[in-house]
Amino acid sequence: MESNLPNNNFDITEYITCGICFEEYDNLKSQPIILNCGHTICKTCLFGILNTHSNKKCPFDKSNLFSNNINEYKINTPILEIVLEYKRSLNIFSKFKNIICFKTEKENIKENKKGKN
Ligand SMILES: [Zn+2]
Ligand SMILES: [Zn+2]
Repeated sequence: MESNLPNNNFDITEYITCGICFEEYDNLKSQPIILNCGHTICKTCLFGILNTHSNKKCPFDKSNLFSNNINEYKINTPILEIVLEYKRSLNIFSKFKNIICFKTEKENIKENKKGKN
């Protein structure tokens, strides 16, 4: 298994966090729920939308949501599996954390230079 580390251009956290509350998905309150339009948000946020907004719409593209019943929505299983796998491998990541941070910093400097020219 040598592909445990994400490459520099792929930020996995974008895919495993809710775009509304920026919480990482999990298998409990923050299960990733796929909406009928194809977007995924966490269960907590969907619950909030279904309970507080008069217009039940996708927060990203304003598509109407098909149901007021949270139990009728499906869990985005592939995302959930990625999240669980990611959390399992966090122990491995943490060992390389310093290296990854250093790399990221270098990338940022490179980006800044590019932007100035
Ligand atoms: Zn959320
Ligand atoms: Zn949507």
